[in-house]
Amino acid sequence: MLVVTKFGGSSLADAKQFAKVKQIMEAKQTRQMIVVSAMGKRNKEDSKLTDLLFLLHAHIMYSIPFDSVFSMIQERFIEVKKALGLTYDIEKELEDLKKQFNKSMSVDYLVSRGEYYTGKLMAEYLGFTFVDAKDLITFNYNGTIHQELTEEKIQKAYHAGDKILIPGFYGAYPNGEIKLLARGGSDITGSIVAKALNAELYENWTDVSGILMADPKIIEHPKRINEITYDELRELSYMGANVLHEETVFPVQEMNIPINILNTNDATNPGTIITNHCTDTSQVITGISGKKNFYSFTITKENTANKTSIMKNTLEIFEKHNVHVEHIPSSIDSFSVIVSMEEVRKIQYDIIADLKQIPNIKDVTMDTDLALVAVVGRNMVNQAGISGKIFALVGNVGISIKMIAQGSQELAIIFGVSNQEMENAIRVVYQNMVS
Ligand code: ASP
Repeated sequence: MLVVTKFGGSSLADAKQFAKVKQIMEAKQTRQMIVVSAMGKRNKEDSKLTDLLFLLHAHIMYSIPFDSVFSMIQERFIEVKKALGLTYDIEKELEDLKKQFNKSMSVDYLVSRGEYYTGKLMAEYLGFTFVDAKDLITFNYNGTIHQELTEEKIQKAYHAGDKILIPGFYGAYPNGEIKLLARGGSDITGSIVAKALNAELYENWTDVSGILMADPKIIEHPKRINEITYDELRELSYMGANVLHEETVFPVQEMNIPINILNTNDATNPGTIITNHCTDTSQVITGISGKKNFYSFTITKENTANKTSIMKNTLEIFEKHNVHVEHIPSSIDSFSVIVSMEEVRKIQYDIIADLKQIPNIKDVTMDTDLALVAVVGRNMVNQAGISGKIFALVGNVGISIKMIAQGSQELAIIFGVSNQEMENAIRVVYQNMVS
C-alpha cells in the first residue's frame, strides 16, 4: 500500500510549515512518496519562490542588476536550513548557480531550481531519498510527456519500502535539458507518480480544507464538499472553481486512484475526496460555480430555411475566427452561440458581418451582458423537479434567466443571467438547495 503525497508552496513556505509536513508524513507509514512544490508565500504580501526565479531570469536577460532578487531567494533557503539545523550546502549550491548566470541560461532550468532546492532541504529533513525529476519525468521533443518512458523510470526508481522525495513542476527532454510543466504543475507530477506506482491514494496537501460548495467570496462559509466525482470536478473547474491543475485529474482517474485534497494547516480535517464513484448521497447538489463575461450571438432564420445548414455555416464562421464555442441553446427558428467575451471582444463586428452573409438568415443579434451559473450534481437532471426548482427560485427574486443549457453527462444545469445578477443567483440557489 502506497500513498503519494504532494505538498503545495504554502505548505513549504518556511521552517514552521516544513515541521507540519514532517508531522504529517510521519503520521502514516504508507506515506512513502512525497512530491514538493517550491516554497510559496509566507503571507499575502510575500512572493512565491517560482515568481522570484522568473523575475531573476528576466533581470539576467535584460542586464538589470539582480543582486537584490538573488538575495531574497538566498535568504529564503538559508533561513529554513538554519532553523531546521540541516547540513545541505545550499550556500555553495547557490554560489555555483550564480556563476552560471548568463544571457543564454534557460529559464526552465533556473526556475526549476525552486522545486529542486526546496526538495533537497525537505528530503534531508524527512530522511527521504531525493530523486531528481529530470531523471523521471521525460518529455518528447514536441513538449508532451512521454508517458510510457516516464512511468517505466518511476517504477524502476521505486522499490517497496523506499521513502522517496521528487521535486515537482519539471522534467527533462531525452538529452537531459530541463523543461517545466505548466504553472501549478507539481500537481501533475504527483498524479503521474501516483499512476505509475498504482498508488492507493493521491493526497494533495494545500492551504484549504478541501473543495467548497461555492465561492466563499459569494457565500459566507460555504460547506465543504466531502466527496466529488472527477467529472463533476471538471464541470466546476471549467466554470471557474479553481482547485487543481486541469491535467492533474486524467492520470489518476484512468487508474481509479482517489485524490484527497487536504489542509496542511488543519491536518485532521478530512478534506475532499475526488473519485470515480461517490457514495455520499446526502446532497443533491455537489457545488455551484459561476463565470462572468460571455457574449451570446443569436441567429434567427427565415421560417422555411434549413436550420441544420445554417448552424453548420455559423459554426464554421466561429471556427474560422478561432473562437471556442461554449454552448448552443436553440429553439425552432433561432439558436444562440455562447462564447467567452475575451475571445470575441476585438472581432465581434467581423463575426457579425460574416454571420449576416449566411443565406436565409432573418436577423443576428448580440447580448454582451451574460454570466453563466453551473449547478453541478450527481444524476441531478434525471430527478424530476430539480431544474424547475432552480429556475423558480431565481425567477422569484426577480432575476431573469437569459438561457438554459444542460451540461454534458447530465452533471450540470447551466443558466445565463446578466453579469450583475450572477452572485445573487448563486446565493438564492445555495441558500435554498444546500441543506
Ligand atoms: N512552483 C510552481 C508554481 O508556482 C509549480 C507548483 O507550485 O505546482 O507554479
